[in-house]
Amino acid sequence: MKFETKVIHAGIEPDPSTGAIMTPIFQTSTYVQDAPGKHKGYEYGRTQNPTRTALEASLAALESGIHGLAFASGMAAMDAVLKLLSPGDEIITTTDVYGGSYRLIVKQYEQYGIKAHFIDLRDRKLLQETINENTRLIWFETPTNPMLKILDIKQICQDTKKSQALICVDNTFASPHLQRPLELGADLVMHSATKYIAGHSDVILGALICKDPILEERLRFIQNASGAVPGPMDSFLTLRGIKTLSVRMDRACENAYQIATLISKQKAVRQVFYPGLKTAEGHSLAARQMSQFGAMMSFTLRDDNKRAANKILNRTKLFSLAESLGGVESLIGHPASMTHASIPKAKRAKAGISDSLIRLSVGIEHVDDLCEDLLHAIKG
Ligand SMILES: *Cc1c(COP(=O)(O)O)cnc(C)c1O
Repeated sequence: MKFETKVIHAGIEPDPSTGAIMTPIFQTSTYVQDAPGKHKGYEYGRTQNPTRTALEASLAALESGIHGLAFASGMAAMDAVLKLLSPGDEIITTTDVYGGSYRLIVKQYEQYGIKAHFIDLRDRKLLQETINENTRLIWFETPTNPMLKILDIKQICQDTKKSQALICVDNTFASPHLQRPLELGADLVMHSATKYIAGHSDVILGALICKDPILEERLRFIQNASGAVPGPMDSFLTLRGIKTLSVRMDRACENAYQIATLISKQKAVRQVFYPGLKTAEGHSLAARQMSQFGAMMSFTLRDDNKRAANKILNRTKLFSLAESLGGVESLIGHPASMTHASIPKAKRAKAGISDSLIRLSVGIEHVDDLCEDLLHAIKG
């Protein structure tokens, strides 16, 4: 089945009791049993919910996996993965990993004796020097945030095949419409479904997808034991969002390409970071690894300071100033004072996050209106 059909049909059955074509919102905490222990597969809402079950089946199909697990947030999904580790285990991740992921690893899990290495995973030699017999998890995103660097999923999987480490890709920025890490050798995919998958900026939800039944069983145990599950309403909203994932992504990617091309020609703009541009460092790898180049980009200004960035941030009308990404509406943000403010300035600068860096999450509005809005803001 093609992806565009999967988003509509995978995991979705008409409701057996009524024929309702949309999976109902099963707003219930418990289920009546015929006799003690004799039930229809549903006992208690933390453990199972039919709306969530439909969502989990859909997520598994979208990522070419077998098992899907839904969580109350992207961070709750990551937390479940980290709970697979024991004291003495080591993680390898990237220097520019999502801020919330960095915080969870360092502030929460280091105190339990789990050690993390933050490296540039594009450096194959450094990866070989860092990996050791204690490495249990390799965790990364591609494209990265906010510099849109591209990591070679297949290469990283091949280079670490001999180790016992689980390879988990945070596929939030690409979405399964553009990139499916399980097909490239990863063991596990994580999503902040809050972003492109749900797609309407109206829900917080996380997901894990894998193929291995033993890994699924361990994660399922944690999902139930810790209980960070999404409610039926949020599961429904995500299922509804998934139906339009392909058409939304197609439009957003098209818009993003046109916008990246346009702003790269502006005098006030120093550099545009968008993997779809031929001049981008990761362009050829992205062209191999992704079906399209995504709808996230960032750019710096010739006038490399916060004041110049603020002028643009204050002037856009269609691009709303907000954190998050992946919704139908376009957003604009300033990583140095928003998403990446907790990173010390020197460290930020080293990662390329200068004071004039502006990040865009391009939505699905008409591209002419988006271009006009940005041009007006950039030219003043
Ligand atoms: C938003 C985000 C997360 C965290 O997800 P939540 O749903 O906000 O908990 C993790 N990784 C990436 C890349 C994100 O953009």
